[in-house]
Amino acid sequence: MSETFEFQAEISQLLSLIINTVYSNKEIFLRELVSNASDALDKIRYEALSDPSKLDSEKDLRIDIIPDKENKTLTIKDTGIGMTKADLVNNLGTIARSGTKQFMEALTAGADVSMIGQFGVGFYSAYLVADRVTVISKHNDDEQYIWESSAGGTFSVRPDTDGEPLKRGSKMILYLKDEQAEYLNESKIKEVIKKHSEFISYPIYLHVTKETEKEVPDEDAKVEEVEDDDDKKPKIEEVDDEDEEKEKKIKTKKIKETSIEEEELNKQKPIWTRNPQDITQEEYAAFYKSLSNDWEDHLGVKHFSVEGQLEFRAILFVPKRAPFDLFETKKTKNNIKLYVRRVFITDDATDLIPEWLSFVKGVVDSEDLPLNLSRETLQQNKIMKVIKKNIVKKALELFQEIAEDKEQFDKFYSAFSKNLKLGIHEDSQNRGILAKLLRFNSTKSGDELTSLSDYVTRMAEHQKNIYYITGESLKAVQKSPFLDALKEKSFEVLFLVDPIDEYAMTQLKEFENKKLVDITKDFDLEETDEEKQNREAEEKEYEELTKSLKNVLGDKVEKVVISHKLVGSPCAIRTGQFGWSANMERIMKAQALRDTSMSSYMSSKKTFEISPKSAIIQELKKKVEADGENDKTVKSIVQLLFETSLLVSGFTIDEPAGFAERIHKLVSLGLNLEEEAEVVEEVPSAETAAAETGDSAMEEVD
Ligand code: ADP
Repeated sequence: MSETFEFQAEISQLLSLIINTVYSNKEIFLRELVSNASDALDKIRYEALSDPSKLDSEKDLRIDIIPDKENKTLTIKDTGIGMTKADLVNNLGTIARSGTKQFMEALTAGADVSMIGQFGVGFYSAYLVADRVTVISKHNDDEQYIWESSAGGTFSVRPDTDGEPLKRGSKMILYLKDEQAEYLNESKIKEVIKKHSEFISYPIYLHVTKETEKEVPDEDAKVEEVEDDDDKKPKIEEVDDEDEEKEKKIKTKKIKETSIEEEELNKQKPIWTRNPQDITQEEYAAFYKSLSNDWEDHLGVKHFSVEGQLEFRAILFVPKRAPFDLFETKKTKNNIKLYVRRVFITDDATDLIPEWLSFVKGVVDSEDLPLNLSRETLQQNKIMKVIKKNIVKKALELFQEIAEDKEQFDKFYSAFSKNLKLGIHEDSQNRGILAKLLRFNSTKSGDELTSLSDYVTRMAEHQKNIYYITGESLKAVQKSPFLDALKEKSFEVLFLVDPIDEYAMTQLKEFENKKLVDITKDFDLEETDEEKQNREAEEKEYEELTKSLKNVLGDKVEKVVISHKLVGSPCAIRTGQFGWSANMERIMKAQALRDTSMSSYMSSKKTFEISPKSAIIQELKKKVEADGENDKTVKSIVQLLFETSLLVSGFTIDEPAGFAERIHKLVSLGLNLEEEAEVVEEVPSAETAAAETGDSAMEEVD
């Protein structure tokens, strides 16, 4: 009883894309299927570590490639974990995978079909060369089943009752398209395996047909004594063995026998056991590709061994790009393969590398770990902890090496800067080393990025701190009023515009004994005695105005102060040293699922700063002195100044409608529409209704 299933819609789409592609580099299908076979072998080997009886069904772990010229099929067979009926239905067709859609989008955007493996849909690459695929599979927990599809939207699954029984594992039979018959040729298969699958750690056997000549008694000749037999000529060559023939009257003939020989294609010893000096960059690249499914070479590699109390060898790779699902939290992190004395154990040892280094790929081969490790014991294992520490250390060395070449490091940084920052946040021990790898735009760096070390070399003598500004984008921070005073003093300010920057910087706190200071928050700016005197005098002079403004703004602000840190801009909103900055408030608000209990005590305490150097503030002072703080125009102006400050300081306005209203009034005035403006009815906003007693409409602004 065969059951028919529909492919999940996106998979169906993907299949027709694959089957119709004119893409020429189709050979990668073999890499994908061999890699799946190898994964399946890994899985059964891993399960057998805790329950050796799982291997009873078949102990020989291997991959076989069987070309059949007569039937035009290519079979890839493994003795791996196999698939149950449910696995066949789910894994090969009905369960959507996040990579399916992303891969199709990537293809439309010009990506290469060979990238398929990275998106977790490698199996379907079989349809690059085949128009029909049959998968026969036997899992320890189920009967043998056959999955079959010629694409076209559906596939069928049925019990395999009369086929050759597999002890365990899977067999992928590809019915090759006519024009793809070259994949039946021994030499072609060898070439492709050598290119893409050389480092698979299970033996890959190619079944080759060998013809041998064999001498057998010629029964026919004996009976019929016929010398020539034209019919059989192509296969049988008759030979007269004259000496014996005469005596015994027995003839022999040579026949060509075809036999199948298994030729092992990947006999290399594991690359990490070899001496690094003997390994070429091409070999590393080939190994990296086989390990990672990447279609591009690696960016950096570190091959090392640790000896002493504990012994292991490892190769770490940094890719050129971040994978499409780098920060997808549910994804299992399987970028470091763990071996114990050359035997593959798992690619799921979460404790082998910290999460912030999850983009690093590689292998670790330990001499000390026991072979029968279970997932649980792995996690508590002391040896694992030491290995992990060493991997982090070596990865950092590798990053530093990459940093020596600016061009390489630029690539690295644009792909993985978030990981470095996450590392700063999470790894207190290596914070100092990681900080040296950070790069930012700054008020003095132009289009380039600068390191903290370079910043320090440019610091003015009397500058005590390293200054930075946080915000949503370069454009948003480059003209911020907060920069004014620092620019005037010629102090450089770093632009931190990645959401993770602020998390990292607040953990880092200092660099080379210099405090890291966010200039959108409250801080002490270096000042000369003269500046101090001036500031104190101005604070006195404007004391009344600040009080009035606080009265007008009420509890929208914590306090109103005279600021010597603003120059050209009339005002800005600064936050307290310990709460969230405007930037952090924005980030937190954007996180839909965040825990809201934090907001009440972390949310920014706003200080409204006004600049006595600004003509607007000077005039406002006169107006408040003349008309008093309850004057409608004064109130409106203060309100507007406050709202625009919110915007330039990186906050959002709670009630945009009221703000727009006030701006429209101003625009009307600018357009000499005074009369009409007075006719327009005020839309009472919640803010004006609740907080203020009078009408907040700007009456006259002369
Ligand atoms: P990926 O291997 O990246 O998960 P594929 O599309 O290549 O994606 O394979 C889909 C799934 O089908 C695999 O995750 C695996 O569960 C199953 N599968 C594929 N090939 C085999 C195999 N030879 N043996 C057992 N399971 C397999």
